[in-house]
Amino acid sequence: MLILHTPQQMRTQSAAWRAAGETIALVPTMGALHDGHASLLRGGRERAARLVASIFANPTQFGPQEDFSKYPRPLNADLGVCRDCGCDAVFVPTADAIYPPGDQTVVEVTELSRPLCGTFRPGHFRGVATVVYKLLQLVAPDCALFGEKDYQQLQVINQMVRDLWLPVTIIPMPIIREPDGLAMSSRNRYLSPEERRQATAIPQALQQIVVLAAQTRDAARLVAAGRELLASAGIQHIDYLEIVDATSLAALTHLDRPARACIAAHIGTTRLIDNVAVAVPTPLC
Ligand code: AMP
Repeated sequence: MLILHTPQQMRTQSAAWRAAGETIALVPTMGALHDGHASLLRGGRERAARLVASIFANPTQFGPQEDFSKYPRPLNADLGVCRDCGCDAVFVPTADAIYPPGDQTVVEVTELSRPLCGTFRPGHFRGVATVVYKLLQLVAPDCALFGEKDYQQLQVINQMVRDLWLPVTIIPMPIIREPDGLAMSSRNRYLSPEERRQATAIPQALQQIVVLAAQTRDAARLVAAGRELLASAGIQHIDYLEIVDATSLAALTHLDRPARACIAAHIGTTRLIDNVAVAVPTPLC
């Protein structure tokens, strides 16, 4: 497995594979890899001749008060996961390599970056779109895999790829969960044992919404039920709990099209996000 540090090394390697007629899959990550990341890597392994993982905690997608400096960076363990999942190369650039002095170009997906996390993390999706665009330029993959765990991010990337005619197929991958339902996340390691127990209310609230959605199309009722469950678990700091259109992310009042229930909540000092597909109830005859 190659470990590549500079954009030039990454470009040269990718060009050599392409010249040999080999396809490339890319899995962008920020490191602290878990089974969610591993499922993306295995998905990429199946889809292309060459598999590249990138490990880069991207400073431009963190706000000034966020956890960039304490974000976990267990590089050796991460390289082990990449090796086990059959990566051909891991791209581990420095921040200066990705944003050299004088860098001033950004990519902004306007509408889709505004709701949900965009409201609470201004500039976050500009940072995400910009770094993903740069990684796609350097790796030139045939496909890139992204988890539905970061559902808004996935929609932002899809929109960017469409709008800029980027020659890559984006593959969405399902959310991998712990046995008790908590979505795997690099940030779960910040949780104390008590907070970890409390955090299971997040997937439980989403499940409650899925079950209730079979009985009502009223999004406000679904949201109220989810909020009640979070409150009963002692989760008070909720950034949002919304039912949104699965593609446009516009808030729905009525469940009349493919929808997604999305939550961002703080457990102690840790901010967690999760989401689930909500089926439209079948009409009664
Ligand atoms: P991150 O390292 O958090 O930036 O995540 C890198 C990629 O892994 C993103 O496409 C995430 O959506 C995806 N990912 C993170 N956690 C999970 C999970 N529990 N299940 C599936 N994909 C995930």
